Amino acid sequence: MDKHGLIGKARLCKAGVCLTDDKPMMQIRNLSVRYGSQYAIYNVSADISACSVTAWIGPSGCGKSTFLSCFNRLIDLYPKCKASGSIRWDKDELLDPGINVRNLRTRVGMVFQRPNPFPVSIKKNITLPLKEHGRSQESDETVEKTLREVGLWNEVKDRLNASALSLSGGQQQRLCIARTLALEPDLILFDEPCSALDPLSTQVIEDLIDSLRHRCSVMIVTHNLAQARRVADDIGVFWTVEGGFGQLIEFGKAQQIMEAPRNRQTAAYINGLVG
Ligand code: ADP
Ligand code: MG
Repeated sequence: MDKHGLIGKARLCKAGVCLTDDKPMMQIRNLSVRYGSQYAIYNVSADISACSVTAWIGPSGCGKSTFLSCFNRLIDLYPKCKASGSIRWDKDELLDPGINVRNLRTRVGMVFQRPNPFPVSIKKNITLPLKEHGRSQESDETVEKTLREVGLWNEVKDRLNASALSLSGGQQQRLCIARTLALEPDLILFDEPCSALDPLSTQVIEDLIDSLRHRCSVMIVTHNLAQARRVADDIGVFWTVEGGFGQLIEFGKAQQIMEAPRNRQTAAYINGLVG
């Protein structure tokens, strides 16, 4: 039993074994999201494997961020935003109005395009969320462990009490990832995490995503097709169709999508002809 009371996907993943391999970890069915009367995405269905990295790609405005925001119910922050369909994850229905959203957001971490560290010290960026979740006793150990994981420890160990805002953009982003890792989420959502970063931070983040595969699932939105190819097991391609909403036009193994796309628009997008 893991901390969520589940017979552990996470633990099994850590041991390098995925019992759920033949069975999807998550089933997305007929997911549509609209802002007012305008749909942002329409009728999206996909199966997500356990311990996998899934990249979502597609041109701007085709609904990728909206789609990602369904998994931690960030869409609730927009009063006019309504989702329908189903996201089944273990025994939970993520779109259920009665779901405990606070617990869900502990289980699902999110990293945004622009780093958003709290305006407090480097250390407190990690200890405050731990405290909030009643895990203060693990603090110092977790601070070092997570900062090491994002390759930041050696850069900041002598100034843990300095403001997080004094860090460079790439360091801030890595701190945000460390903050997310500290809560040991089962799923981490990355929304274009590297698009404003230097090559070194990008490399660290890609390596980290690669290593996360064995302990949680990852979804990443990226405009960088080479990055999708490097980090993803599966790739989903969104496209804006007639009517102005996004649809998932192709979903499959990364290699198949990149080397032998079945959809004409995917092929044009991959080859840089459109988008
Ligand atoms: P992407 O991440 O692929 O660029 P988004 O999910 O950000 O796409 O946007 C999809 C569509 O939803 C766009 O047409 C966008 O204008 C619209 N949209 C996104 N957020 C909001 C919002 N808070 N209110 C109204 N429309 C929105
Ligand atoms: Mg976006």
